[in-house]
Amino acid sequence: MEKENAKRILAMLHARSGSLENGEPISPPIVTTAKYALAGAPNTPYTYGRDINPTVEAAEAAIAALEEAAIVAFPSGMAAITAALMVTVKAGDRILVPSDGYYVTRVMLEEILADHDIQFDAIPTKAFATADLSPYAVVWCETPSNPGLDLCSIRSVAEAARASGAKVVVDNTTLTPLLQRPLDLGADMVVSSDTKAMAGHSDCLFGHVATRDADLFKKTAKWRKVSGSIPDPFAAFLMHRGLMTLELRLERMCQNALALLDRIESHAAIETVKYPGIGFVIGLTFASETKAEAFINNCPVIFASTSFGGVHTSAERRARWGDEVPEGFVRLSIGCEPTAELVSAIEASLDAL
Ligand SMILES: *Cc1c(COP(=O)(O)O)cnc(C)c1O
Repeated sequence: MEKENAKRILAMLHARSGSLENGEPISPPIVTTAKYALAGAPNTPYTYGRDINPTVEAAEAAIAALEEAAIVAFPSGMAAITAALMVTVKAGDRILVPSDGYYVTRVMLEEILADHDIQFDAIPTKAFATADLSPYAVVWCETPSNPGLDLCSIRSVAEAARASGAKVVVDNTTLTPLLQRPLDLGADMVVSSDTKAMAGHSDCLFGHVATRDADLFKKTAKWRKVSGSIPDPFAAFLMHRGLMTLELRLERMCQNALALLDRIESHAAIETVKYPGIGFVIGLTFASETKAEAFINNCPVIFASTSFGGVHTSAERRARWGDEVPEGFVRLSIGCEPTAELVSAIEASLDAL
């Protein structure tokens, strides 16, 4: 895995190398244009800004090297999720989604797609392994689930789904293609909110769909073109720039998470600690909402904010959004701060509770 990742990271960092002429910039230029010169017969792919953009293409090439798959980039994770839903489910279909996964996906199904005759069932991620998949056109997994951090085996879900003729889509936002490879495990499609660790600096929204299925790729690209959801070139530039250090950031974030767990796992101020064994997101349950808020707000190295995967450690109480977690549940996203300083500041905030 490490060696395979090294190959992919190298390919990502040098995705532009082969195609550059002398004098061309190493970093992708931010090309802001709605129109391209286009006289006579349209004999170039560069026709109109809603269809194609060189900065977006550079971001896609870098992500494609990591995913080892065809990529369609989107302006946010939800735009990628919408595209994946649009090309995999149709009127009359049923889709299985995690009840403990990213809640906006369920809002989309419940409040928008239900009106288009698409039905869904939501079950806990832990129950996917034993679920009857026969009613579903699509099985949608998120493992570890966000925010509950429960797991299911993508390989077994994909095998069962294949046997019953369902497509498998995996939301791989929490682990990224460097820590988990859903397409290698049998998934048909990956969706990702690159707003999180992929871009990594909490300064842009981005998302992508990855697939090795030529037909799904074609449909996804067509969906983006006709729905008009191409990313902005500035965001594509920021995502590309952030992505270049993904491996280094993940290494520090995961190392920080493990060092912190080592010190706080049995701290008296915490009721339970949840960690899926990989990654940089930790679930901490405190006795009450008040204790949880005090932990977040009194710690100088934790940004109180939603989202995760940025260079700065951040945390929030997920019950404030209505997630099915205890009132005192905190999702802690570990950042790239120096390890010893981060651990001792968080420990001090726990000691003060
Ligand atoms: C944040 C997130 C999304 C949505 O991504 P946006 O970029 O905010 O649209 C989807 N899935 C998961 C697991 C997420 O954490």
